[in-house]
Amino acid sequence: MALQIKNGIVVDPKNGISGEKMDIFIKDGKIVEEVKKNCRVIDATGKLVVAGGIDLHAHIAGCKINTGRAMRPEEMRFVRRKSNGLRAAVGRTLLTSPAIGYEYAKMGYTTAVDPATPSLYVIHTHEELDSIPIIDKATLPLFGNWHQVMRYSADKDIEKLKSFVAWVLERTKGYGVKLVNPGGVEAWMYGGNVHTLDDAVPGFGVTPREIITSLIAAVEELNLPHSAHIHCNNLGMPGNYETTMETIKLAKGFENRDRQVLHVTHVQFNAYTGSSWRDIGSGAEEIAKLVNRIESVTIDMGQPIFGHATTMTADCPWQFELHKLAKAKWCNRDIELETGGGIVPYVYRAKNAVNSVQWATGLELGLLVDADKIAISTDYPNGGPFNSYPYIATLLMSKKFRDEEMKKAHPYIEKATSLPSIDAERTIEDIVKMTRVTPARVLGMKNKGHLGTGADGDVAVYDINPMDYNSSNFQAILKALKNPLYTIKSGEIVVKDGDVVSEVWGRTYWVDVRDKTTTELIERDLEEYFNYYTVNRENYGVEERWLQNPLRVMAG
Ligand SMILES: [Zn+2]
Repeated sequence: MALQIKNGIVVDPKNGISGEKMDIFIKDGKIVEEVKKNCRVIDATGKLVVAGGIDLHAHIAGCKINTGRAMRPEEMRFVRRKSNGLRAAVGRTLLTSPAIGYEYAKMGYTTAVDPATPSLYVIHTHEELDSIPIIDKATLPLFGNWHQVMRYSADKDIEKLKSFVAWVLERTKGYGVKLVNPGGVEAWMYGGNVHTLDDAVPGFGVTPREIITSLIAAVEELNLPHSAHIHCNNLGMPGNYETTMETIKLAKGFENRDRQVLHVTHVQFNAYTGSSWRDIGSGAEEIAKLVNRIESVTIDMGQPIFGHATTMTADCPWQFELHKLAKAKWCNRDIELETGGGIVPYVYRAKNAVNSVQWATGLELGLLVDADKIAISTDYPNGGPFNSYPYIATLLMSKKFRDEEMKKAHPYIEKATSLPSIDAERTIEDIVKMTRVTPARVLGMKNKGHLGTGADGDVAVYDINPMDYNSSNFQAILKALKNPLYTIKSGEIVVKDGDVVSEVWGRTYWVDVRDKTTTELIERDLEEYFNYYTVNRENYGVEERWLQNPLRVMAG
């Protein structure tokens, strides 16, 4: 049955609509011009109508989050949803798979991308993605410390690298290219790390700079929908904003008509000045200026939330540092020729000066970077649960709310960050960009993030009028964003009045660019490399038919 969302106030920046009273029609899962008969009608009079939200970076599936769940049985005491006819859902920072789908839907989100899977274990990642209801999803395999990638980068052999990227994306049913601390995770296999873009990686002689630029070149020549997506070197360390700025500048030599050529993720964790934990400060202002100036770079926030989190990343050397700093339990794993992973539970404390600097730095980025260039994220579960996005959006929209929340933070932020002096307030249109339009463009998902004809029938309706609200009344904004009146996925009502009412199954996007290159180029190398793996080449990767609802994207 078709659906009509009637008399809502539509904010759809991609199509130039910023608060117009109009009707939205959905048929066969897509937005259409009009439907005349057999239409179910939702009354949205005076309410905000927007496209479904998109999370471009959340660790929602795979061996990291599952190992995290096993490490933290205490998480399972938090009941998020009794079954009520659907499935039960539990977890505080480490949600079960059903809880992930439900919690996204409960805030009006309909798409999320897992940004880091080891290719060797990708079958596990897809099993979990297939267990997450409602939302569309995708996963990005990790490339930045892979032996083949470092070898081809050292040889400057972009043709082989392209062939390898295409081979991996097909084998993993992956969506794009992720780099985490390029070179540093390999160095960690020898107990080390890399500290600048020009440190040599042990055994390969290649530098992070060469790995990054080679992968950008390969991604651009293959014209993948999504750009290279990077977690920079030196994450978490005081003074790291300089490495981040240098990394951002690497995008300068490349161009793409439709999107950025480098997406720099959870920048808050890579935006610190200072030389130690005693004089750490925010470099957000300088980073924001640079990002706003360089056309071909986008970022996401990586906003920490005061309270519990579970950090998990392929950045093994950083996880070891954090384990020592936080005196918390720690898990580490080396993943053969490819990558690694570590997990450390963490609590962000408002009374802690460093944590407060982190909190303020994320918000500075959210306020200072153009809404066309930044997406809201917590780097779930590293900065905290993703269902705090309404809280983050409200902080960005209301100076009064920020002032209230800043009172809870450590006063050191007045010295170390510019947050207290920023009066700017994001508009609803800005927030729609940061949660819909920008992530859709960053990911190259053309049918998402807007409500034009042919777009996915993913819509959220909120109890707020974008033409008539008061930013000082932050309680009302927060309440509206936390409890959508409706979330609609592919034309089905999945959330009503803030609770899940039905379950649909989204698609898993993956990218097939095998026609742009040939595997023959790397055939002999692959044969050689599989001598060193614990699996045979025949058993490596996943077949498309194993996925519940795959959507193959051919690159343009
Ligand atoms: Zn991440």
